[in-house]
Amino acid sequence: MQDSQSPELEQALRNEDVTSLQLPSIHLRPEQSFGTREYGNVWGASHGEALEKNGEISAKDLGKGLDNPKGEYNCFLNVIIQSLWQLESFREALLTNSELSLRPDDESEAAAFLRSLAKVFSSLSGSKSGVDVNLFVVDPTECRKALSSIFMSRKRSQVHEMADASEALNDILETLQLFFEQSGKTDSSDASSNIVLGSFGLKVKEGLRCSTCGYKMQEQSYTRFFHYVPPKLLADVHQQLRDQKLSPEDLLREAYARDTRTCPGCKEGNAMFECSQALFSCPDIFSLVLVWETTSATPDDISLLFHQLPLVLDLSLVYSGVPSGSKYRLRCMVCFYGQHYVLLSYKPRVKQWVQYDDSSVKRVGDWKEVVERCRLGRFQPNVLFYERCT
Ligand SMILES: [Zn+2]
Repeated sequence: MQDSQSPELEQALRNEDVTSLQLPSIHLRPEQSFGTREYGNVWGASHGEALEKNGEISAKDLGKGLDNPKGEYNCFLNVIIQSLWQLESFREALLTNSELSLRPDDESEAAAFLRSLAKVFSSLSGSKSGVDVNLFVVDPTECRKALSSIFMSRKRSQVHEMADASEALNDILETLQLFFEQSGKTDSSDASSNIVLGSFGLKVKEGLRCSTCGYKMQEQSYTRFFHYVPPKLLADVHQQLRDQKLSPEDLLREAYARDTRTCPGCKEGNAMFECSQALFSCPDIFSLVLVWETTSATPDDISLLFHQLPLVLDLSLVYSGVPSGSKYRLRCMVCFYGQHYVLLSYKPRVKQWVQYDDSSVKRVGDWKEVVERCRLGRFQPNVLFYERCT
């Protein structure tokens, strides 16, 4: 990794065309790639204004927003793009991945999406943006169009229509995973050579055992990208086991472990099964999807949920097979209220949370202020990204 910006990178940023780059010269970590000279020129005019409006956080730390003109319904995609960019391990892996430059003529939907995402990442990182009226707003249209092709294959909603953020993310990751698997240059089932698996892949082995008669279902091994849990189940388990003083990790594990289904052993209708989960890979990012039964949660429901969510999570307490002390820190939280999505993202450098609501980017403050904002604004946390810290 170089500390100074290469001429190729400078040229590519000027053209906003990262696909033309000969990698590994792409390295867009802003604090490395843009010295004070670059940032001074670009951010200088609004920097002071942003500082004043946002207290102790600079415009550079706030970052850029993503455009969502009326009628486009980009918010579900904007929160996903913004999250993926904010997650430094994924951003760097994507921007330094040579598959992008090696397959510029690949017309597959996955390649098109990857190229469009790299381009938006470059604009978010770079010193100019795709929307000229505002240097702080990037145009996601190309990503949206590329996503519509993925959606078409999967019979999801199209451009100009609203969609579910977690479903969209899952579709994107599955499509990109296939892209890397099919690249054929490396053993892409290996997480180290497949950035999607390495970043998000949860390779699990699940076992189910009937808690009445002990009947064991056949173990299943598979890879998924999320740990799913309904907030209502978290609340129920919390209530049922309140004497045991469970940690947030215990709650996540216990809520997932409960499964009701017909038992071939008991043959008495539905039986309660205990689900054991082992993990064979520790991804860079642990993604938690909260599946709500309602789109109108009360402030109390949201408050209760925040009591049950860890800010730093030890994955070895959720899954067996994980080395102890595998800590992950909450970095991004996609929330919805009504039919709209926003993102809250933690900035480790300044230890502050920032809200991304399409083109609007605002400092929120510390975690307490995040909880208060969600409670009062009825923001329902939906997709939580934890980034590995140890
Ligand atoms: Zn049974």
